[in-house]
Amino acid sequence: MKKEKCPYCGNDKFVEGKQEGYGAVGPANKTWTFKSQKLYHKICLNCGAVVKSYVKKPSKIMIKKEEQN
Ligand SMILES: [Zn+2]
Repeated sequence: MKKEKCPYCGNDKFVEGKQEGYGAVGPANKTWTFKSQKLYHKICLNCGAVVKSYVKKPSKIMIKKEEQN
């Protein structure tokens, strides 16, 4: 894994935050099923900037409605 740096302060130490419940995300596009995922945040330990927000398994929310049954 390559070392990432905070684009705001240049710090290279991050903490991973997890958001659940009401913060869970699903696809905005209604063509896809709404399978909510936990949202993770990569937060800079120095300035607190959320450098990246992501889900662990993007393929899981990208399931077309027709393929659900
Ligand atoms: Zn920073």
